[in-house]
This record gives sequence, structure tokens and C-alpha cells, in this order.
Amino acid sequence: MKIGVIGGGQLGRMLSLAGTPLGMNFAFLDPAPDACAAALGEHIRADYGDQDHLRQLADEVDLVTFEFESVPAETVAFLSQFVPVYPCAESLRIARDRWFEKSMFKELGIPTPAFADVQSQADLDAAVASIGLPGVLKTRTLGYDGKGQKVLRSAEDVAGAFAELGSVPCILEGFVSFTGEVSLVAVRGRDGETRFYPLVHNTHESGILRLSVASSNHPLQALAEDYAGRVMQKLDYVGVLAFEFFEVDGGLKANEIAPRVHNSGHWTIEGAECSQFENHLRAVAGLPLGSTAKVGESAMLNFIGEVPPVDKVVAIADCHLHHYGKAFKDGRKVGHATIRSADLPTLKARIADVEALIAKA
Ligand code: AMP
Repeated sequence: MKIGVIGGGQLGRMLSLAGTPLGMNFAFLDPAPDACAAALGEHIRADYGDQDHLRQLADEVDLVTFEFESVPAETVAFLSQFVPVYPCAESLRIARDRWFEKSMFKELGIPTPAFADVQSQADLDAAVASIGLPGVLKTRTLGYDGKGQKVLRSAEDVAGAFAELGSVPCILEGFVSFTGEVSLVAVRGRDGETRFYPLVHNTHESGILRLSVASSNHPLQALAEDYAGRVMQKLDYVGVLAFEFFEVDGGLKANEIAPRVHNSGHWTIEGAECSQFENHLRAVAGLPLGSTAKVGESAMLNFIGEVPPVDKVVAIADCHLHHYGKAFKDGRKVGHATIRSADLPTLKARIADVEALIAKA
């Protein structure tokens, strides 16, 4: 089976690493000359709106999936005429736009921060008057790793904030004083079967995910599964979906969903019986889903900007390096390590050992 992937970054690369043993081949459509998935499949180098190359991709593959959600809606609609596309166009339409996303959560009875649509500075002033400060102004689309957002704490922050974010459609959210951030990686097959990985605790630095630690018997697991299940059913979703939550007052507030494999699920490559990448491929290909059970304790530490010396990383017991083969650049995710152990104290010690390498790098 040949899988077409829109996007050729590290997520595409890891999809190929998981799918190759299942007998799958891959083609990646990505305009970047140095797309890092190109080492693991065919690289169709073209813009996402280039219909000739989209048609070529559709003709070559059995189905198309995505490694990022900011795909133009026209691209998805165009491909869908010729080849099955998972997850469906509607899932992408909702997940790529924070207003649609939060409106859907509200409709499904899933708690969110207070939010308002902002199309102008006057809208922002009105939204601040009703939601209050502090708040977070975010562009509705194309935001990632903390980009395209601004925390508003004072009237001075509010003045001109709409223009600062580019005078594009935005959403204002009430600032959530959360006790933690967790994410749930879920997968739904073509037949509607749904499975969930354990909730993961996430720590960010400068808006970028740094550390994910998989939990055991988290008290909010069932609630998170209930919320994710509602979303996947509503969208008739097929594939892996990641759901990010704020933990607050012993409950959850929905932050966002990602209609794809997710950075906070990378630990599953070595830390779960079947990884998020394999389960995504199983789902879109109509294969039975694999077990989402955790194997021991697991964490994922991102390498941002540069990868520490390979010999030092792999010298740490049960530490598994993933080097994406990308040029090193500040703020860029260039690799990660899965760190495992039989118990939590050992896991923490090993995480500290890898963090010490990052500090030295
Ligand atoms: P996002 O791109 O929406 O995932 O936001 C990136 C990070 O900013 C989140 O992981 C949080 O740490 C923080 N953040 C986003 N929205 C809010 C909010 N409404 N209240 C407090 N912190 C937020």
C-alpha cells in the first residue's frame, strides 16, 4: 500500500519509519527542498496548492493523510475527488481554526477558557470588556509553538494588539491559571473503533513543548477520553487525534486539538505496545488498531535548536535517540529522546541526565 502524506517534516519521517515494516511505501508532498521525510520516501516537491502535483500524488497513492493541519481547504477538497483522504476535510477545517474548534467544544459540552471572536481592534476592546484581563489573543489559524499569540495583562498590552498579530482574524481567550497541561492521544479506525493512550503531562519552554511524561492511572483519564470520544464521533474521525487540555480545579479545560500524530505522543514509539505512528497508519489503512498500553515508565524530551552529542545520549540506559536530520536552528525541533525505565524515580534521574547534556550542548 502506498500512503501519500501532505507535509514532509519529522512527523512524516516517523510515519514512514512505522509504516515500512507493515509493507507500506510513502510519498511526501512538500515544497521544502530539504524536507526531512524525503530520506524515507518519494518527495514530490511542490506547493500545497499545486494541482498538477496534487493530481500526481493522488494517482500514485492509495490514500492521503497529513502531518500538519494548516493545509488549505481547497487542497483537501481537490484531493478528495480522486483518492480517500483521512482524516476528512471537515476535521481539518475545524482543527485548523481556533474559533471553529472552540465553538465545537462548546457545542459538545466540553469546558473551554472563555473565548470571543476578534475581527478588529474594536472587537478586541469589546471582548476584553466582557472576558476581562489577563487574556490570550491568538490568531485563528496558522499558530504553532506559541507563535501567533500574545498574552494581554494591561490596557497598554491591549492597545494595538490586533495589528501586532497582523490584523488577521483572532480569538481572545481568558487566561487559565492551570495547575498543569496534559494531552490525550486518541485513535479511531475506519470502523469507529476508538483507543486512547495514557494522559501525558507536558512542560513547555517559550511556548515550545520540552518534556512529555506519560502518566499511570491519571484521575482525569476517563474524562479526557469522554471529551475526545465526543469530538471524534462528531467528526466521524479516522486516524490519530491529539487533544490538549489545561488541568484546572480537578477538571479539564480544552485548549486545542491536532488532527494528526503529535509531539506529545512521540514517547509511544518505544514506550507503548503500538506507537501513535503505527496506529495512525493502521487506522487510515483500515487495519485493526494496536494496543495503546504503556510499557513501563516513559518520557519524551525534545531537542530544540540542536541535538546533543549522539554518543552521550545513547550512553544513557534505555534512552532512545531520534535525530530528524534537519539543519540545526534556534527554536527548531531537530530531534527528541524517549527515556524509559521500570520506575518513576529512575525515569526522573535519566531525564535529568539527558537535560544535563542539553545544558552543555
Ligand atoms: P497553544 O498554541 O494554544 O497550544 O498555546 C501554547 C501555550 O500557551 C499553551 O501550551 C499554554 O502553556 C499557553 N496558553 C495558551 N492558551 C492559554 C490560556 N488561555 N491561558 C493560559 N495559558 C495559555
